[in-house]
Amino acid sequence: MYKFNPQRIQIGISACLLGEKVRFDGGHKLSSYCSQELTPFFEFRPLCPEMAIGLSAPRKSIRLVREGQSLWVQSRDGSLDVTDKLNEFSARKVEELSGLGGYIFCAKSPTCGMERVIEYKRGTDNGNKAGIGVFARKLMERFPLLPVEEEGRLHDLVLRENFFTRVYAYHDWHQMRHKGLTKHDLVQFHSRYKYLLMAHSQKGYRELGLIVANIHELEATADQYFKVFMNTLKIHATRKNHTCTLQHIQGYFKKHLTAAQKVELSEMIMKYREGLLPLLVPITLINHYLRQFPVPYIENQVYLSPHPQELKLRYAY
Ligand code: SF4
Repeated sequence: MYKFNPQRIQIGISACLLGEKVRFDGGHKLSSYCSQELTPFFEFRPLCPEMAIGLSAPRKSIRLVREGQSLWVQSRDGSLDVTDKLNEFSARKVEELSGLGGYIFCAKSPTCGMERVIEYKRGTDNGNKAGIGVFARKLMERFPLLPVEEEGRLHDLVLRENFFTRVYAYHDWHQMRHKGLTKHDLVQFHSRYKYLLMAHSQKGYRELGLIVANIHELEATADQYFKVFMNTLKIHATRKNHTCTLQHIQGYFKKHLTAAQKVELSEMIMKYREGLLPLLVPITLINHYLRQFPVPYIENQVYLSPHPQELKLRYAY
């Protein structure tokens, strides 16, 4: 169970990304995006599993070695084998990480790589990119709904926005659960996320609506809901879906706006649809109209503000 931290969202991170000299070559992989831009928003929990099992820096580099169903973690010449140590440490460590709201991994590592890590054929330098780092795999198996991403992929603005949307939604869910869940809470939660979910997947939104409409055993329903919810948010929101969502919201203002204001909002939405404006522009205009003509149902929509504006996440598309 996620241990909710009301202060700040805790994000696990490969220690080398924060500049710790823990890599096999004694260096680091400092990410200025993580270490500078993200630190005001999150509490980082850095971890280097390889150092944690007693390896030093510098050290022999290790790799995933595949032979049939067996997978080892060892040096190229096989003289250093940390398979058992790393597996045991990872299995134990992930049990302490239930309070995390997300994880940022260093790519390609046999320990921290989240995907496409090379698995070598024993005794060769040949391999394929079918592997997952030992620690990353254990964490993702233990917390399959936890938002995870590789640092390099966060430079893609679409992937970045999707990751942080999930981080804040994951936290929001657990914040609600922390207070004690009621049927009313679940219905309200779904209502607040309506337009965000629609932007990600109309099918997912409808599926979640059916779950909420048929609450029998609350805990089981909540678990089912959260699984579909997080998987729906994983689907990338498209410009087409955002346009449709914005037009739905626009409908709530039709009695209030002047003809000129309606034209202005429609134009902003269509310019966004054509790729001439970022999403932030029509959203900002809608928020402006909301201050003039409050509509509580729309004001409560997470869609209009799913993460702090200072993270600058709605410029990508
Ligand atoms: Fe340590 Fe992971 Fe960075 Fe490798 S990728 S140095 S194991 S934190």
